[in-house]
Amino acid sequence: MKKLFTILLLLLCFLTCGCTSNKPKSTLDLIKEKDILTAGVKFDSKPFGFIENNEIKGLDIDIAKHIAKNILGDKNKIKFVEVTSENRIAKLINGDIDIIVATMTDTQDRRKIVDFSIPYYVSGQVILCQKNSDIKSAANLSYNNTVIVKGTTAEKTFKQFHNKSNVIKAHTYHEAFNAINNNTCMIGDEAILQGFLQNNQGYQIFNKKLSSEPYAVAIRKEDTTLKKYIDFTIEQLQNSDELDKIKNKWIK
Ligand code: GLU
Repeated sequence: MKKLFTILLLLLCFLTCGCTSNKPKSTLDLIKEKDILTAGVKFDSKPFGFIENNEIKGLDIDIAKHIAKNILGDKNKIKFVEVTSENRIAKLINGDIDIIVATMTDTQDRRKIVDFSIPYYVSGQVILCQKNSDIKSAANLSYNNTVIVKGTTAEKTFKQFHNKSNVIKAHTYHEAFNAINNNTCMIGDEAILQGFLQNNQGYQIFNKKLSSEPYAVAIRKEDTTLKKYIDFTIEQLQNSDELDKIKNKWIK
């Protein structure tokens, strides 16, 4: 009887221990285990994520470094992986990256697939044209004279005043910018388009905002504890005025 009891006890222990160790690790556990946070960021969206002197910089990069500091105690324990507007959600879902910090607007549609932190910046979409453009306002925009970047909310913005959906689509911001001519304009986030104007003469932005774009960090839906760390980081930055300092450093 005593022997049977011991066997049962051992079996119970084995089953319990087995269950515990088989529990899938959360992204947060894995980040801590690997001692590195992998963030998907833009490499071509000045002043949020861009390369200068072989170094990745920008407002999104600073936010991501603060998140790494909060989770791992060191802002340099971070690996940056390039994402585009088109591929960022797929890269998050398939596990190539732990988080997206890439000028990404929190929208209801995207919330069906991923989760978002609290916002850390609000931009709005505007029209960018050549100074001598024939296009003078949003009313002159049409599906065949408007460029947007694929995978961005600009397509929805365009559809607000045009029901034709076959607007001209570029894969990158550089490609979209290069497609602008005196009869073709671009719709995009003011914060990113201003970055292009800093290095290019002969263009103008129409001031009227066509949308509101709250930027937030995207995470996989199951990563609820990781989300708490990220929200806490952004709240801390807000409360300590550090977020304003970061914005003033990058947005001119
Ligand atoms: N914020 C917009 C979006 O998330 C456009 C900027 C971007 O391409 O990331 O679609």
